[in-house]
Amino acid sequence: MPARSRYRTINETLRAHFGEKVSKISVDGGMSCPNLDGTISSEGCIYCLNGSHYGKNSIRALSVREQILNGIDYIRNVKPEMNKFIAYFQAYSNTYADTDYLKKIYEEALSIDRIVGLSIATRPDCLDKEKIELLKTISQKKYLWLELGLESMHNKTLTAINRGHTFETFREAVIMAQEAGIQVCAHTILYLPGEKRKDILQTAAALAELRVEGVKLHHLHILKGTKLYNTHQSGNVFLPTLQEYVQTVVDFIEYLPPDTVIHRVAGDAPKELLVAPDWSGNKLRIINEVKKELKSRGSYQGKRYGAY
Ligand code: SF4
Repeated sequence: MPARSRYRTINETLRAHFGEKVSKISVDGGMSCPNLDGTISSEGCIYCLNGSHYGKNSIRALSVREQILNGIDYIRNVKPEMNKFIAYFQAYSNTYADTDYLKKIYEEALSIDRIVGLSIATRPDCLDKEKIELLKTISQKKYLWLELGLESMHNKTLTAINRGHTFETFREAVIMAQEAGIQVCAHTILYLPGEKRKDILQTAAALAELRVEGVKLHHLHILKGTKLYNTHQSGNVFLPTLQEYVQTVVDFIEYLPPDTVIHRVAGDAPKELLVAPDWSGNKLRIINEVKKELKSRGSYQGKRYGAY
């Protein structure tokens, strides 16, 4: 196993690619989501913060350029040595617009000094051949990640969380992107309602089989203003302990191929909205526990790849 790390992190990957540390700057491209605007549903995923009060008055009033320049200034005020940044189109579904508009905002981001690439987060049902062609053209010139929300490979779970698409839709989008040479990062949420360790590891196995280039692991957290919050208030949401979560993350990592880039092993949330689990607010602690568990097992990413 690599001497540096027991799993392949995005930070290491970016450093290897660009020769120095690279930071991400969140950008709101001004789009919505078909699961919120009534096209699929107006309810949104049960954990969706975008559909709540939070963020509605946010940075939307600013252009993509202004948001990025503000973000660069903010980071460089604290870390003046930072020189390279990725524009991360994060809010809502960032391919949910016509291709001309998408081209305009992606090019606007890439035209800014110090922006070396893009991360574009979207739903698998917000892609078509024309959009893939646009992303392909960009990825041939610039560093690009296409981040696709899956959350779980179980359609029963996707229905329960009102995700509004199936695993099959996700698989088709991944194949379309990969055939165009675009690297895909799959978003997952561990311990979604009704899921146990076995179900979660089936998602790991499905992603391993698809050979997605990257994976983000999030824990399920309860945020004020979401539908999940109401269910949690009535005592109907199971949340694992930190140790249970860490064990499952490490299992997940063991089942992935050794070269899959792990973008995250825990989620982030605005502190003022975070309700549970109680271990959720300290991301560094979660990362350290994952590393500690890998070490204590004498384990590493890919150890059980193909064994599921
Ligand atoms: S896909 Fe994203 S933006 Fe849309 S409802 Fe779900 S969490 Fe919210």
